[in-house]
Amino acid sequence: MKSSSVAVTGFRRRFFSGVSDRQWSDWRWQLRHRLRNRADLERMLVLSAAERSALERSGGGLPVAIPPYYAALMNPDDPLDPLRRTLVPVVGEWQGGVGEAADPLHERRDTVVPGVIRRHPDRVVLLATGVCASYCRYCTRSRLVGGRERLTGHWEGALTYIAAHPEIRDVLISGGDPWMVSTRRLDHLLTRLRAIPHIELLRIGTRMPMVLPMRVTGKLVAMLRRYQPVVVSLHATHPAELTPEAMQALARLADAGIMLAAQTVLLAGINDSVAILRELFQQLLCNRVRPYYLYQCDPIPGSAHLRVPVDAGIALVERLSGEVSGLALPRYVIDAPGGGGKIPVGPVTWVGREPGRILLRNPHGQIFSYPDPP
Ligand code: SF4
Repeated sequence: MKSSSVAVTGFRRRFFSGVSDRQWSDWRWQLRHRLRNRADLERMLVLSAAERSALERSGGGLPVAIPPYYAALMNPDDPLDPLRRTLVPVVGEWQGGVGEAADPLHERRDTVVPGVIRRHPDRVVLLATGVCASYCRYCTRSRLVGGRERLTGHWEGALTYIAAHPEIRDVLISGGDPWMVSTRRLDHLLTRLRAIPHIELLRIGTRMPMVLPMRVTGKLVAMLRRYQPVVVSLHATHPAELTPEAMQALARLADAGIMLAAQTVLLAGINDSVAILRELFQQLLCNRVRPYYLYQCDPIPGSAHLRVPVDAGIALVERLSGEVSGLALPRYVIDAPGGGGKIPVGPVTWVGREPGRILLRNPHGQIFSYPDPP
């Protein structure tokens, strides 16, 4: 893995030479200077025909947004660079595949009031905003993020709904990326949620520590720690995202006693190898982040080029399970199309039964028997 400091320094010198450290480290400056279109990208990357053609299409698609910090981590000459493939569109995105759907998890059906998705009695997802710092080409909510659906002015209705349902104990604040909301407004939202007596746990889903670690300011962390227990569930894709800047952001959160967990989407040509996933999960754990879900990529329109066959995913997980500690091994799940929730998939380890014993297969293919109590 290349040193991000070297990569970032070279990139800054080349494209943002007049920019001070203070500006570069300001998350709002980074947002204002995101790469948004073909002209922006072409200035900094050598685009492939597939990328250029996707960027030439206008209207209707998932927007493009890449903070300069994250663009600096991409290989400008290689369209197969894994970080580049997560955020730069290619024409495959415009080719619909069998079984794909704009809302594969039926979140619209499970939306109880605007911005609140409820699939379980004790938990809800609260969509705080519809915008993100960057737009992942495989996003489950690509139907709504980036202004594709209106998602504003809904907080009051959402809070009223949650307050009126005492069986809800856990709120996952998601989006879009909730950390796109100002710290002051987020503070207000968390105050209101914490004032609801039956809410025990607050979770926040974000991709910011990986794509824009400067968002993890001292002010944000100090605010979050007032609402414990808070779990930050971050979205990490590739070990190259774990730059010194990202590790510092994670350390700030962990030092504040905030529990950190990570979700990863398995993506073809991006992270579908044992070596890459092992490095990612191991390094997340070393940075006090527990990897907890490895998702099979949801079948959103134009996702076929990013989806890994499930059999290959299972084989990867089986090999990984023999190579990393259980703490560094997330559950491989398919979020069931149709709204069935997360269903674990994995290698078959329970392979048979003998009188008084069950037969088990380990990741190396060896069979063992366990004396099973009657
Ligand atoms: S950050 Fe999350 S919500 Fe935003 S585009 Fe990526 S996956 Fe979707």
